[in-house]
Amino acid sequence: MMEVLNTVQQMKLWSRNRRQAGKTIGFVPTMGYLHEGHLSLMRQAREQNDFLVTSIFVNPTQFGRNEDLDSYPKAPEADSRKCEECGVDALFMPRNEDMYRPNFQTYVEVEKVSGPLCGASRPGHFRGVATVVLKLFNIVQASSAYFGEKDYQQLQVIKTMARDLDLPVSIVPCSTVRDSDGLAMSSRNSYLSSEERKQAVCLHQALETAEELFRSGEAEPDNYLKAMSDRIGKEPLAEIDYVELVHPQTLQRLANVDALGALAVMAVRIGKTRLIDNKVLGSGFID
Ligand code: AMP
Repeated sequence: MMEVLNTVQQMKLWSRNRRQAGKTIGFVPTMGYLHEGHLSLMRQAREQNDFLVTSIFVNPTQFGRNEDLDSYPKAPEADSRKCEECGVDALFMPRNEDMYRPNFQTYVEVEKVSGPLCGASRPGHFRGVATVVLKLFNIVQASSAYFGEKDYQQLQVIKTMARDLDLPVSIVPCSTVRDSDGLAMSSRNSYLSSEERKQAVCLHQALETAEELFRSGEAEPDNYLKAMSDRIGKEPLAEIDYVELVHPQTLQRLANVDALGALAVMAVRIGKTRLIDNKVLGSGFID
């Protein structure tokens, strides 16, 4: 039977007992409104650990003032059912006031890797992410934590934090799960109208275009950026936030593309909904 834990104290005690008994805990942090992307992380964590913990917490400190904190989609009952079906042992759903108690004033800054891309478009976002993930790690005391490559920069920020601060948890990257037309699954896809949903396929198609250029041996980053932007520009409801070709670890712009590869990465607004996607081209950089 899955246990639902709503306080930090309950969660800490649940995990402490199991860790002291020498058991491993796999952890999948989420913001809820669960889809197959989330479930694939849970299934992997379920297979690789004695216990599986999932958290659902829409973390206010990673949202900017004009972002969708208040309208972020919620489906607590459906989420709870999906967790149970995936074999979750403990579902942690803390309250805001328990995570951010009065006089809260400590934040984690992961410097360089948080700077470009979404860090530039969403100031303070990764500070909020790193802070809440470190808190969740301390509460859940996981042996391994599972993160999707769909949020590629987030994964790099968390890997960097774990290494720099010697966190006793392994960070496990998991591949992006897509709908049949290639759109990366996201809770935010639920904001899309049916016309927007059709046009949203341009993100994945732009990445496929970049992949074809890479296979043809193209070395000039500008040619990738032009091809990707042109594909996105075909959709009247699409507006580019950024499209970049960067080093897969540092996330710095590349001067030229060689056989080692690159990360093609983008954020695009479809109507009012901001979507992100990425693809690693080549495999020379994979650690
Ligand atoms: P979120 O609820 O959006 O904060 O996502 C929680 C976790 O699920 C993060 O590690 C995400 O990277 C991961 N995730 C979200 N969408 C996908 C997807 N389509 N494929 C794989 N992982 C995903």
